[in-house]
Amino acid sequence: MTSLQSYVCGRWVAGTGDAKTLHEPATAAVIGDVRPGGIDFAAAHQHAMQKGGPALRAMGFQKRGEMLKALAAKLHEHRDELIEIAARNGGNTRGDAKFDLDGASGTLAFYANLAAAMPAGNCLPDGEGLQLGRTPRFWGQHIFVPRPGVAVHINAFNFPAWGMGEKMACALLAGVPVIEKAGTPSAMLAYRIAQLVVDSGLVPEGAFQFLPGSVTGLLDLLGPMDTVAFTGSAKTGALIRSNQNLIARNVRVNVEADSINSAILGPDVESGSDTLEQFLANVTIDMTQKAGQKCTAVRRILVPAAMVEEVQEALRERLQAVKIGNPLDGDVRMGPVASADQLRDVRTGIDRLSALSDTLLGGSKPMEGPGYFVHPTLLRAKDTSAALLHELEVFGPCATILPYSGNVDEATDLCNRGGGSLVASAYSDDRAFVEQLVLGISPWHGRVWLGSEKTQGQALGPGAVLPGTIHGGPGRAGGGEELGGLRGLHPYMQRTAVQGDRAVVGRLFGSEGG
Ligand code: NAP
Repeated sequence: MTSLQSYVCGRWVAGTGDAKTLHEPATAAVIGDVRPGGIDFAAAHQHAMQKGGPALRAMGFQKRGEMLKALAAKLHEHRDELIEIAARNGGNTRGDAKFDLDGASGTLAFYANLAAAMPAGNCLPDGEGLQLGRTPRFWGQHIFVPRPGVAVHINAFNFPAWGMGEKMACALLAGVPVIEKAGTPSAMLAYRIAQLVVDSGLVPEGAFQFLPGSVTGLLDLLGPMDTVAFTGSAKTGALIRSNQNLIARNVRVNVEADSINSAILGPDVESGSDTLEQFLANVTIDMTQKAGQKCTAVRRILVPAAMVEEVQEALRERLQAVKIGNPLDGDVRMGPVASADQLRDVRTGIDRLSALSDTLLGGSKPMEGPGYFVHPTLLRAKDTSAALLHELEVFGPCATILPYSGNVDEATDLCNRGGGSLVASAYSDDRAFVEQLVLGISPWHGRVWLGSEKTQGQALGPGAVLPGTIHGGPGRAGGGEELGGLRGLHPYMQRTAVQGDRAVVGRLFGSEGG
């Protein structure tokens, strides 16, 4: 039984107040707890501002990059131990845990590599300089500089390693200290990573603080140089956005929320083709990886009516072959969902969607034995225009087939009814269909992933978030944006236009000579 502590103001602090228990999702056994109170948030904020920030900025981009590289190596060194914790407290299979952990170390390493090509100091030119006066003598240059504030990162339970790692990588490289809040149900993995970060001595004191409990009260202390980056449900995201202090002081808030992602099969795709195989494989992975608890997982599967029978049979067969059980068993491919609350929410959600659909596989009925297990559930919509199909995120191994005519406008309309999503994937070798679809759905999506004969076997599926391209989406997906190479640093930096003598502006801050 582990009682998780917070790391604030340079020491580990036990929480106070009522304990929230942590469970092993495969057995429902209690294995730890978190107490939310007893943290002096004002002192933690000051500690970050006065100690962590200046120490980080004294390092410059390149040295901070070296720090990220060493952190990535530290996580990798402890990979086996961390996989075990992810299985124990997160219900992750070995593959799920690697996806999370390698995502974290891979993103840290990606930003370390970017840093190697950045300036030694703290100033990043943004684009080319430009003439602003009658002659080139009066010159302008946009620059990015680190904001002397604190990054408060509120993470979701489903990616305790990657979620914290990707946010940390961007803020620390930008030169901004972090306060990391873990999602409670799976907080043991984030806690162990926090211990490794602190014990490594790689991050200057004050630049990394960790909270496994609550952040209630912290947001009321933040000021204009601070940034809040939240990942979680749309409901909590809206609550954070409406915090009066954050509004009054124009604190930057980035929200990564939930999303009703779709996979679209093009009308040209035929039985036995590589494109169909890619579609079936990716949908199966998306539905079962992390037991469907991925913000990018497919929830709506758009299939031309002529292919529906074949696709539903093929998916049913593949999903039935996925071995479900205790993730500590090596051959298990899908574990339980993360908590009793999750189990309840997923079952309720399946019931609500089932009322509008035919159940092709699974359903909300309990599984035998202990733990928070859910059947992989494949539904087929009776009426694709039913609003709930496009609004309800069942955060588990459940997706709904939406038959459509094969017409690109209909596919576009159905896909965009999600109200703003993180990702849509489309599988087609018909370039005219793809082009029209991409242009139609892009305004409503942060990412569009295209599968075709040519890309079979070439890339990770649409569920994987890659640090070189942006993650986030408009509307209900939160309206936020993370990662995307250097773009990921922008929430933590101020873009300033410097205007003046070209010799000064160009030479000091830009790529232009004077
Ligand atoms: P959640 O319940 O909204 O919680 C997210 C985080 O917010 C947790 O750390 C939670 O702490 C904290 N929190 C809860 N109430 C808060 C409040 N009033 N003020 C400040 N923080 C608060 O979401 P979740 O259940 O952890 O995660 C699942 C959801 O996240 C899904 O809907 C999924 O789609 C979404 N998600 C989105 C992305 C993305 O990148 N867009 C990625 C992953 C997950 P406690 O755990 O202590 O309550």
